[in-house]
Parts: sequence; structure tokens; C-alpha cells
Amino acid sequence: MPVRFVIFSDLDATLLDHKTYSFKPAVPVLKKLQKMNLPVVLCTSKTRAETEAIARDLGLNHPFIVENGGAIFIPEGYFAGHLFRKAGISALKKGKYRLIQLGTPYRRLREIFKKIRETAGIRMLGFGDLKPEEIAAVTGLKKSEAERAARREYDEPFVVEGSQEFELLEKKIKSRRTRIDKKGIFLPAALKDSQTRASRSSDAAESRSTGPSQNRILARIKHMAGRYRLRVTAGGRFYHLTGNNDKGKAVCLLKKLYRLESGKIITIGLGDSINDLPMLRAVDLPVLVARPEGQSSGIPRGTKNLLRTTRPGPEGWAQAVSFLLGLLNSGPGKRKKPCPEKGGYHG
Ligand SMILES: [Mg+2]
Repeated sequence: MPVRFVIFSDLDATLLDHKTYSFKPAVPVLKKLQKMNLPVVLCTSKTRAETEAIARDLGLNHPFIVENGGAIFIPEGYFAGHLFRKAGISALKKGKYRLIQLGTPYRRLREIFKKIRETAGIRMLGFGDLKPEEIAAVTGLKKSEAERAARREYDEPFVVEGSQEFELLEKKIKSRRTRIDKKGIFLPAALKDSQTRASRSSDAAESRSTGPSQNRILARIKHMAGRYRLRVTAGGRFYHLTGNNDKGKAVCLLKKLYRLESGKIITIGLGDSINDLPMLRAVDLPVLVARPEGQSSGIPRGTKNLLRTTRPGPEGWAQAVSFLLGLLNSGPGKRKKPCPEKGGYHG
């Protein structure tokens, strides 16, 4: 049986441009992959609604991983039913998909997010605090896209005080017209409450605008999230509060299914941020796409086999995939990277 290549790819600032969200520079390579019948599996912090729309635009009909490994959506019939049983994976039928759930429900994440904000005295804003037009303002998405981004199921993206995004959102929220919601809570209350507490906390008060302080705040949020068995990771624009899931665990499950289906496979993974690290560690050929304006990705220098692109976004993506396809077509070696078996999932 011939070796099959499977590509796992992040979206924001990887296959999509960080600012414009265009994937145009990658189109010729995507077409080539389609002709060669090689799967491109999107692996993103975006929601199902967003990823579905982007997959449609990209002409992809493969499984996709959403919300930082919170869930895997597999088109019905893509893998034969017996392969799921063989792999020991339980997948729910959900519309036109088989769904593998790995994440913590969003409602629970929001509860904990609010608890952290209230008890830590850290000013932070999550997508659950924002209106679609505010998400649009901070991300550069169109309003319809921002509405899809707001349909969270397994991941709460957030910003904290001291960042440009937080300042922008704070201004937007303060300019909202004062009104009372159904529960009688003044809508921007979350912000106001945490502000009052933050002013009592010297740690938070001195933290504005400086890198090390942002790190200190993040360490504190991580610590508190850990008490509830939740995790915090960083994407290109936002921090993300999630359950005990990550992109790597989801990639490993799909690798299992592809292996059972195709025999030998070689996996390529492409990402730009620290939330991509588990995915990059789970593939045979990891690619770090350069960050726009040369910012640091946070990916450790010593990451095994890591290929770095010189160009950011879809240009870097196309550069790396072309290079690897050329290299691999000229003679793939025997590469196999074990996936950790521990870490449960539920269907
Ligand atoms: Mg990214």
C-alpha cells in the first residue's frame, strides 16, 4: 500500500493571513493537494460554524478539528463505521457528521471564567462578554463571520488588561448604552466589578502594558484554571480557556483512523502559535509558519524536526507544503511518531 500524506493545518496566521484572512497565496498548492487526493485537516481554535464556512471556501471535504481540539467533525461515511470500533473511538452521529467530543462544555468554561475574574481581580474579557460587532472590531472579521465566531462550544477566547485588544474592547463596551438585562444586571458589570477589585490589587494595577506583568497575570490565570482542571493556552490574538483538550490529542485520534484506513501515513502539521505546539509534536513533519511582523510564536527552539518558514501566513504555508511534497515524493523515509494513548475522550 503506498504511503499517504495527511496535512493538519491551523487557520489564523497560518493558512489564513493574520489581518485579511485571505488564503489566496496557498490556492495553487491546495489545488495540487486536491488533485493528489491528499487530505488537509483544518485544526483551529475557531468554532464549528466558522470552520465549516472556511472549509467550504477552500473546497475541502475532510474531517476538521475545532476550538483547540474541543471536538472533531468527520463527514458521515468518510471513515467506515468499523474503523471507529477498531480504534476504540466513540463518535456521535450529528447531522452530516460523526462527532468526537473532547472538550468541556462552553457553559462550564464561562462559569469558571467569571469565577477567575471575580476572585483574582484581573480585568479580562471573553467572547461571552462581547457582542458580534465588538468581536468584529477586535478581530477584523466581518459581522457575519464574528457571529459565527461567537458560537462557542468548547473554548472561551479572552484578552487581559494591558493588551491593545483589551483596551480597544474596554472602550467599545463603555460606549454601550446603559441598559438592564433580563437578570437585572448592568451589562458591563463584569468589567466594572473586576475593575474595582483590580484597583485593590497592586499586582494587577502595576501590570498594565508590560510584557513580564502580562506573563505574571497569565501565570495566575493558569494556576486558577488548573484548580478547576481547565487549561489556558495562547493563540495568535487571544488566550483560550479550555478543558483538558488540545490540538495534539485530536490529531492523534484522526491519525489512528487514517492509519487504519490507509496503512502507512506521513503527517505534516502547520501552525504559528503556542496553541499549535501539541499538534506540531503529534506529527511527523512539523512546520512553524513565521508570525506576522516577526513576533515570537512561543514555540520552544529545540522542538524536534521543526521546519520554519521565512514568510508568514498562507505564503509561508504554501512554501513549506511545496517543499515537503517535493522532498517526500522523492523518497519518504520510515517515520512514525507515537501518540500518547492516555487522556480520555468522550463521544
Ligand atoms: Mg494561528
